[in-house]
Amino acid sequence: MGTRGREIVGKNVEKVLDLLTRAFADEWLAHYQYWLGAKVAKGPMKEAVIAELLQHAADELRHADMVANRIVQLGGTPITTPKGWYDKTNCGYDAPDDPYVATLLDQNIKGEQCAISVYNAMLEATQTTDPVTYNLALQILQDEVEHEEDLQALQEDLELMVARKG
Ligand code: FE
Ligand code: FE
Ligand code: MG
Repeated sequence: MGTRGREIVGKNVEKVLDLLTRAFADEWLAHYQYWLGAKVAKGPMKEAVIAELLQHAADELRHADMVANRIVQLGGTPITTPKGWYDKTNCGYDAPDDPYVATLLDQNIKGEQCAISVYNAMLEATQTTDPVTYNLALQILQDEVEHEEDLQALQEDLELMVARKG
């Protein structure tokens, strides 16, 4: 923890740490949901869907790393057990029990939409008090917006393909 770096966040530190902790739980669950989805995916355009899911799995893990670094900087401790992810998550975990590509896309689009709301709220909470966390939330939000668009573009292609064949 850097003492002056923590000081400038002022009395907001505990609130910011809570927001970061919840986001950290979301990122790990999102990482695993994507990673496992890529393993089990079945159906049309499987190759393209798997490639996107794997790319997003890597991005979510990178986000977990970025968020953890900020938690430590502020003097907090990242959640120490996977069980703790469940207690703190905003966006939850949607198990890829149905491996059909369209179902996986739907589940992950919901997750991205939740992530966009989470980071947007983090931006609002930090914009005048914590420029470092604000910048972090902005970087991650840009990725989550891209993720949603990538998945919705795949969903659209899949629907067009299925409609043409049917
Ligand atoms: Fe993320
Ligand atoms: Fe994402
Ligand atoms: Mg992508």
